[in-house]
Order: sequence, then C-alpha cells, then structure tokens
Amino acid sequence: MALNLSDSSLQDRLAKIEMIIVDVDGVLTDGLAYYDSNGMAMKAFSMRDGFGFVLAKFAGIELGVLTGNVAEMVKRRLEAFNITRIKGGHFRKLGFYEEMVEETGIPEQEIIYIGDDLFDLPVLRRVGFSVAPADAHPDVIRQVDAVTESKGGRGVVREVIEAVVRAKGKWDEVIEMIENDEDGGR
Ligand SMILES: [Mg+2]
Repeated sequence: MALNLSDSSLQDRLAKIEMIIVDVDGVLTDGLAYYDSNGMAMKAFSMRDGFGFVLAKFAGIELGVLTGNVAEMVKRRLEAFNITRIKGGHFRKLGFYEEMVEETGIPEQEIIYIGDDLFDLPVLRRVGFSVAPADAHPDVIRQVDAVTESKGGRGVVREVIEAVVRAKGKWDEVIEMIENDEDGGR
C-alpha cells in the first residue's frame, strides 16, 4: 500500500537518498503531447519542478532522467538545469537504469525512481525507493513505496525533492544557500 511522502515511517529511508531518477511523460509532464501541422510535438513542463532541480543541486542530490523517447525539447529543458544524465530510447528501461547505477556508483538503496506507467514497473520494483504521481496507473500506485499529492506535470518532482531535502534536515541550509547565491540559484 503506497504511503504519502510525509509519512513518518518513510523519513529514515528518504534521508539516505543520494540520487533521484525521473521519467518524463506523465511525471515531468502531464503525459500529453500537442502536435502542430508539421507533426512537431510540444510538451509543457512545470516551473515548480524546475526550481526543485535547483533545490536538489544545492542539497547535493544527483539527478537522472529515464525516458522512453529522448526528444530534443526534453534535452533542452533539462540542460537549462545542467541535467545531462539522460538515458532511454525505448520502453525497456531497466537496462538504462542499470547503466546509470553503474556509472554513478550510487548504491541502489540510495536511489529514488519516479514513474507513472506499467513499463516503469521493472525499475520501480528494483530501485531503493519507488514513487508514483497521484494519477499514475493503478497497478503502479499499488506497488510503489509512496505516491505524491501532485499529478504528472504539476510539481511531482518538486514534491519528491522537497521531501528528501527536508528528511535530510537540510531545508533551511539549502534555502539560505540559494538566497545568498550570486546567480540566484542558477
Ligand atoms: Mg511515463
């Protein structure tokens, strides 16, 4: 049974997290793609998640992205936050996940994966701590450690990053660092 991220029984595990890996469609976005008459797709990303990436950077939490489709616009959006650890290209994500774990050397118990759909299950079952958005597939919600209050594309990643920074007891320190940063956290 999936719990809320604020559940007291989860805080010790959240405090140990060193890397957060996120899915794109349905997690960083609401899962919709808009197509123009030239067949070009557009997706919307939450600015709240964007500031979440800044919080993670200042808290020293590594970020990674696992997606079924590595689109140029997704890369551009993530590069704005210096996120270059992006892997994927098809729906079998476990191999990409294993590569990412090997490359970073971070123990799996210290990694969160956030995914919303059935083909995320192999990674969600494997990772140290699994999270799904509020509007994920019911079978995914049933199997993860925690479910966010936010729906996909509406601040899911921000919610998870905040929960980890707070569980680590770093919240005040991180906010102060960003306030005093000459580049405003960028
Ligand atoms: Mg997805």
